[in-house]
Amino acid sequence: MRVITDIHLHSKYSRACSQDLTIRNLATACTRKGIQLVGTSDFTHPAWRKEIETELEEAGGGVYKLRGDDASPTRFLLSTELSSIYKRGGKTRRVHHLVLLPSLAAVDRLIAQLDARGCNLKADGRPILGIDSEELVKMVLEADPNGLLIPAHAWTPWFAVFGSMSGFDVLSECFGEMTKHIHAIETGLSSNPPMNWRLSQLDSIFLVSNSDAHSLDKLGREANVFEMSTPSYAELHHILVTHDTSRFLETIEFFPEEGKYHADGHRACQFWCEPEETKRRGGACPVCGKPLTIGVLHRVEALADRPSGVRPSGAVPYRSIVPLPELIGEAIGVGPASKKVRAIVETLLQDGRSEFGVLLDEPLTELARVVSEDIVLAIRRMREGAVTVRPGYDGEYGVVSVIGDKAARLKAAQPALL
Ligand SMILES: [Zn+2]
Ligand SMILES: [Zn+2]
Repeated sequence: MRVITDIHLHSKYSRACSQDLTIRNLATACTRKGIQLVGTSDFTHPAWRKEIETELEEAGGGVYKLRGDDASPTRFLLSTELSSIYKRGGKTRRVHHLVLLPSLAAVDRLIAQLDARGCNLKADGRPILGIDSEELVKMVLEADPNGLLIPAHAWTPWFAVFGSMSGFDVLSECFGEMTKHIHAIETGLSSNPPMNWRLSQLDSIFLVSNSDAHSLDKLGREANVFEMSTPSYAELHHILVTHDTSRFLETIEFFPEEGKYHADGHRACQFWCEPEETKRRGGACPVCGKPLTIGVLHRVEALADRPSGVRPSGAVPYRSIVPLPELIGEAIGVGPASKKVRAIVETLLQDGRSEFGVLLDEPLTELARVVSEDIVLAIRRMREGAVTVRPGYDGEYGVVSVIGDKAARLKAAQPALL
């Protein structure tokens, strides 16, 4: 079966995250989105660890289901994000890691190791550890030989393995001897597979995509699609570790320009530009003179050893989406969180459809039976990739548009002061 998987998100115990992020709500939201396998997130947080155990029960193969509920199809795997801040090679490094484990017993072994190192796991669902990335891989594998560590949103400037302000130029600089245990990196919202294909150092590992959701509605804004006999940790582990390209069907991606660190820029001055422009300006904001925050596109170009447009053999396919409420909102001229949009989403989700079904697979003729022509057109244009985007920069999300006027306005909008 085709298993849509989102393994990087957060619980209500992570900083700046919605109180609606409970296990039960996650299960319901996943059904609506069309996600079959989701991360619990935040498994080192004591209160959330307890909630995981109370609300879930084992369903075999290293995944969990809602306790006492045979109707919900959602399967959970045990995941978390750990933030490592440490010195290496004379520089301060800040790297976020996604960690997956196959059992609560393994989770408890990792927690015991972190406790022994004096880590404060209560403060945040995504705790900050003073532990070097290479050592953290060792600890994860010690907790369970089938554990996985995946560098999270690998390109973001401040907290990532390749981050312009925080990271490294090659994976082996970060992970040393343990590099062979890194089977994937998370590309993050601001980069897509073709950008990552420009680095030959990534050819032998997978590029995964997840939502990093801080609220229920952001679930699945990026995801992975695997072929599995049933949603399972064991199969996911096998696919990643053996680099089984036949069973990693595709990733579902943001348009990378929409990510909030795609271009270079300075948010306070509302200035953004392309990498070439940054170089011409000596890296300084033309409004205030402070350094521009170097975005993901710039950083990819700096580390790339291939021109754009190269597709390495064995590369996993991808499709790009715009979140359904955004598409509908634009089509009918209202905000994505408005009541009207919500009502239309409800109509679309009748008859057992999911949001991913509507965005990716459902024939347009079928959708035309239940929603207006404008909405069908918006979905068609998204599927064709006919979108215009004003890139995100320095923590500011990009703006995406699929139709007419707004797209034309965005296209005309040049960066300030060019
Ligand atoms: Zn992170
Ligand atoms: Zn400025």
